[in-house]
Amino acid sequence: MYTQRPAEFDYHRPTSLDEAIGLLGRSDDARALAGGHSLLPLLKLRLAEVGTIIDIGRIPGLDGIEQDGDAIRIGALATHAAVAASELVRSRCRVLAVTAEGIGDRQVRNRGTIGGSLAHADPGADYPTVVMALGATITATGSSGEREIAADDLFTGIFTTSLQPGELLTSVEVPIVAAGNGAAYAKHRHPASGYAVAAVAANLKVESGKCAGARLVVGGVTGTPVHATEAENAMIGIAPVDEAAIAAAVEKIPSALAGALGDTYASPDYRVHLAQVMAKRAIASAFEAA
Ligand SMILES: Cc1cc2nc3c(=O)[nH]c(=O)nc-3n(C[C@H](O)[C@H](O)[C@H](O)COP(=O)(O)OP(=O)(O)OC[C@H]3O[C@@H](n4cnc5c(N)ncnc54)[C@H](O)[C@@H]3O)c2cc1C
Repeated sequence: MYTQRPAEFDYHRPTSLDEAIGLLGRSDDARALAGGHSLLPLLKLRLAEVGTIIDIGRIPGLDGIEQDGDAIRIGALATHAAVAASELVRSRCRVLAVTAEGIGDRQVRNRGTIGGSLAHADPGADYPTVVMALGATITATGSSGEREIAADDLFTGIFTTSLQPGELLTSVEVPIVAAGNGAAYAKHRHPASGYAVAAVAANLKVESGKCAGARLVVGGVTGTPVHATEAENAMIGIAPVDEAAIAAAVEKIPSALAGALGDTYASPDYRVHLAQVMAKRAIASAFEAA
């Protein structure tokens, strides 16, 4: 039966991180609620049921955006709109601000959070691809304290992460894009939602016109974002980074995309094709930004 009402659940609204973690640990089917822009649709459509909702949205101190050495630490509850509007992010890691600005629509950006997006691990989400390309580090907090997870190790499958039961994602530390480096993100937006049908984040290190390092991550095509390792290797050492060199590297993208997803909007082959188009755009923009 079609319904717009979730099944019943218990609801808690903790006012501190400790209280939230205590509540999460108390029941096997408790789930955090942040901006609600992924969880609530699932509950309302009864694609998911949870016994206990822990609404973390009003815990103070979890939405900060601040510089921490060579990185920017972004609290889990920072909304997409806050990331997009942050002068710090815009000036030191512009690709992330531009990515946030391109998520969904205004309402989604005003409610959805970076922590919720990373923890939800939707294959079509934007942040996972970008934080992997930037080499970000995620902090998870549970009853035994904090631990760090490299963004490359966070996404383990469709809607699945290496967060442990009872843990909350509390912040993400994104390296500042250093002088001489350039990062860019290109996505083919789903026309209805804005989710990535295929997207590529490129993070290049350029020295005297030569590509000295490359991180290329493809999102939206497979269950998790993946490094296009052969294309990354093909980029290293090329000079000049011109159209022909980019085209040669981009030819290697499909080798990373075994198991490409398909749906009524885009077949697996079309997604792989789009990934190559997005890769060309992302690499060219990243090189220009370097
Ligand atoms: C119409 C529409 C269009 C959208 N378009 C896009 C788009 O173009 N690109 C894009 O990337 N996203 C898009 N989204 C998704 C949006 O960005 C969500 O905000 C995001 O995926 C989830 O963040 P949230 O704060 O709303 O999380 P919630 O919905 O509250 O939670 C999502 C999941 O993450 C868990 N969770 C939340 N916070 C934490 C935490 N701190 N620690 C551990 N677990 C946590 C919850 O338990 C839940 O399982 C769209 C959503 C909608 C409704």
